Amino acid sequence: MKQALAPALAARQEQQLYRRRKLIDSPQSPHVVVDSRSLLNFCSNDYLGLANHPEIKKAFSDGVRRWGVGSGSAHLVSGHSTAHEALEQELAAFTGRARALLFSSGYMANLGLISALLGRGDAAFEDRLNHASLLDGGLLSGARLMRYPHNDVAALEKKLLARPQGRRLVLTDGVFSMDGDQASLKLLAEVCQQQEAWLMVDDAHGFGVLGETGGGSLQQAGLDEQQVPVLMATLGKAVGCFGAFVAGSEELIETLIQQARSYIYTTATPPALAEATRVSLRLLQQEGWRREKLAELIAHFRTGAQRLDLPLMNSTTPIQPLLIGSSERAMQISSELEKLGFLVTAIRPPTVPEGSARLRVTLSAEHTFKQVDLLLAGLAKLKLLLP
Ligand SMILES: *Cc1c(COP(=O)(O)O)cnc(C)c1O
Repeated sequence: MKQALAPALAARQEQQLYRRRKLIDSPQSPHVVVDSRSLLNFCSNDYLGLANHPEIKKAFSDGVRRWGVGSGSAHLVSGHSTAHEALEQELAAFTGRARALLFSSGYMANLGLISALLGRGDAAFEDRLNHASLLDGGLLSGARLMRYPHNDVAALEKKLLARPQGRRLVLTDGVFSMDGDQASLKLLAEVCQQQEAWLMVDDAHGFGVLGETGGGSLQQAGLDEQQVPVLMATLGKAVGCFGAFVAGSEELIETLIQQARSYIYTTATPPALAEATRVSLRLLQQEGWRREKLAELIAHFRTGAQRLDLPLMNSTTPIQPLLIGSSERAMQISSELEKLGFLVTAIRPPTVPEGSARLRVTLSAEHTFKQVDLLLAGLAKLKLLLP
């Protein structure tokens, strides 16, 4: 076995595509400890700075005192606690939908959801830049996978017209995870309504961050359950906890409970986690200042980066990637930034298309303007390495 595996590993290393994990020795915050050094963290998805929030931590530890650690079994056996139930009801109310259903992770939610809704003879229409879990869910379902060019609603419409038969589910990220730009949701919803296709939005990077009270991409676009029947979002990014949920009609949620295999055949997350998530959900709605500050930090970063002529991408969200191109160069800049005291990961193919390696800079409401200035000064020092 070792002999069979080694050549592919060596080839990966050769192509600068080898992935390594950094060892973090501190809680999530603008500063993280890596290899005994404190680095300024610009690559976490903890956009609102809630992952280490004292009230949420307290709810988690109080939850452990009340519930213990493990949930003991799957939701359909004896793992569905009143804490999970309360969180589901609060998520349904917050998203303005009839029901919500918790999944153990976003990856699992997408696999379960798509394969519960589609089968052979059906079709999944996917944006080319969709998250891997949406593509994998499409493949697992056995439906025909139809990918359309990024945010090209006209191209999607053509594909829908050419394939009228079977169930048709259009799947898109709300905020694209490696680019930071947003799906044209209003247009997508219009086309889906005209074509009688179902629209599903994965709002992993919009939920908590976008919209008046953090309701996400759909709140921001003013779209309801009628227009977007399936909303999925994760709880491990802006919400600062762990897990995911799907929200929609009674019929959708009951179908998932009956048929989503990644829901049925897995242990429920710890009830204490549900307690912590409930507090986070309340805080993110109440503390609008987090979204306001984040917006100011984003504007501050973009203005500074434009002044330095850095290769910004077309994004107004906390995901502010710098497009580098070659994987080798992206790795080099990331490692130089680390020497200067910044943690910014290089994202390489196959996570992003060939030739579009990038530094995925992300901002959090817990960053200070000074810290953003420090990052810009660090990037200015490496200007010669940048395209
Ligand atoms: C992170 C992410 C997921 C997966 O969610 P996890 O809870 O981390 O498994 C799914 N979709 C998108 C768009 C994501 O960014």
